Amino acid sequence: MKQQVSVVPFAMKSHVLSVAKQLMELGINPLTQGNISEKDPSSGLIVITPHDFSYAEMQEEDLVVVDTDGNVVEGTREPSAETAVHCTVYRERPHILGVIHSEPIYANAFGIIGKSIEPVFVNMAIDVGGAVPVMPFADSGNKDFGYKMLGIMGDRNAIIWANHGILAMGKTLDKAFHCTVTVELGAKMYHLALCHGEPYVIPEKKIASLIG
Ligand SMILES: [Zn+2]
Repeated sequence: MKQQVSVVPFAMKSHVLSVAKQLMELGINPLTQGNISEKDPSSGLIVITPHDFSYAEMQEEDLVVVDTDGNVVEGTREPSAETAVHCTVYRERPHILGVIHSEPIYANAFGIIGKSIEPVFVNMAIDVGGAVPVMPFADSGNKDFGYKMLGIMGDRNAIIWANHGILAMGKTLDKAFHCTVTVELGAKMYHLALCHGEPYVIPEKKIASLIG
């Protein structure tokens, strides 16, 4: 498609689209599930995927630009139903520039039984900063959801929404993407390890040295 004048760099829309399609291809966000956003550090505006729209068909012009209060600034489609959660993260964590909500199977299975995913894989320590906590089931469209979520997350870069999916954040959208993939890989490994015995969890002290 031809480049159009936009309130954010066109490359940002292409970046969000590329991450969305990779998540679809990995089976982490099939069909229309989940949502992906990136914040433009210069304008503070947010590019987010549209509500209930196929990733396979999605193009740059289908993405929506919102301000940090969730008001639509550009785009003809309805923004994701969880736009308010993304906006809360960007308002409350100014260093965060990428947020991804996804619905991966193994990570979700742990959420369904209310069990956090322990750091059993070194990349989890680096990308997540420790165990992935579980937020009890709640309506993600609720105005307070994002605040409750951040309270449970603390300094972690990812959280499980019980019976729904996960959310990952990063200083860049690529970091949020890595974190998302790492959580699902860690969940698969933890699941398999639990089938065979008692997993060795990387100790807290070691995690601090891996992050720092
Ligand atoms: Zn969802």
